[in-house]
Amino acid sequence: MNELYPWQNEVWQRLQGLRARLPNALLLKGAEGIGKLDLALNFAQSILCETPQASGMACQSCPSCHWFTQESNPDFRLIQPDALSAADDTPEKEGSKKASREISVDQIRALSSFVNLSAHSGGYRVVLVHPAEAMNSNSANALLKTLEEPTDKLLFILVTHKPQQLLPTILSRSLSFAVPMPTRTEGASWLKQQGVADPESALAQTGFAPLSALLSAGEGAGTEEHKLMLAAVKQSAKFDALALAEQLQKVAPVQVIQFLQQWCYDLASYKMAGAIRYNPEQTDLIGNLSKNLSQQSLLRFIKELQVAKGVAFHPLNPKLLFESILLAYQQLLLTTSKA
Ligand SMILES: [Zn+2]
Repeated sequence: MNELYPWQNEVWQRLQGLRARLPNALLLKGAEGIGKLDLALNFAQSILCETPQASGMACQSCPSCHWFTQESNPDFRLIQPDALSAADDTPEKEGSKKASREISVDQIRALSSFVNLSAHSGGYRVVLVHPAEAMNSNSANALLKTLEEPTDKLLFILVTHKPQQLLPTILSRSLSFAVPMPTRTEGASWLKQQGVADPESALAQTGFAPLSALLSAGEGAGTEEHKLMLAAVKQSAKFDALALAEQLQKVAPVQVIQFLQQWCYDLASYKMAGAIRYNPEQTDLIGNLSKNLSQQSLLRFIKELQVAKGVAFHPLNPKLLFESILLAYQQLLLTTSKA
């Protein structure tokens, strides 16, 4: 996921204009579902890159870029709530703990050693806070303290679609940068490339935000990738998770996770209530698979998918994400069928 969305070229140029004199804090604001976080990640990676391209995009091959895509760049921190997705269509188990939707004060305090150390590379360090409005008043005040004592070569990037919910004192200490909406044509043609059957109406239903439209269009049913995933789940635990992750690399991660969510929702729903919602044509198979599954493990896996969906728009490495969720799904089938 290292390409800019087609509607972000112009805003990318403007961001590059800041490189010569970066502010302490940059506030990227704009509508929800237009790719602000991907833009912010691209910018963060490009700031840390040792040999950026002429366009300013990260080279993808220097050590810093390598670490960045492995989610282990020592000069980068991504601060976000444990759970990002508001879509909650999965069965909830009573008494189970929900992943937090807030950025806690502990998460901000944990930055202090990072803020006070100098960069591993001797260059910049970047902290990305997303979404900034998820900070509660304690965490916002803790961040404010850090912003009040600017550190050399430390850039905060705050991403928000609700700037009015941020502390005015944080706003006044940040350089505000508006991320534009794509035009309807840009949004629709991108959605079409993602396999959405009726991009115009998907866009219209989501206030013309393409990433939200993709999420709500969701499935891409009937596409090659959908067939691949269906063929894999039909093999029970015998499918090759690593090979499948490789084959799915080009697919939008949201689609893969949504497919698995719907599949597991059906497994759980059949097991508990004998009902199937998303894959009625697979009733026999779902009935057979769900028989041997432990309800608890299944619900736990559904929760993991929910969390994964929160980061699915901006996985630093989609293949790793696919590998880990597919292996976890396989494990779910293997361990419980022995029991
Ligand atoms: Zn690089």
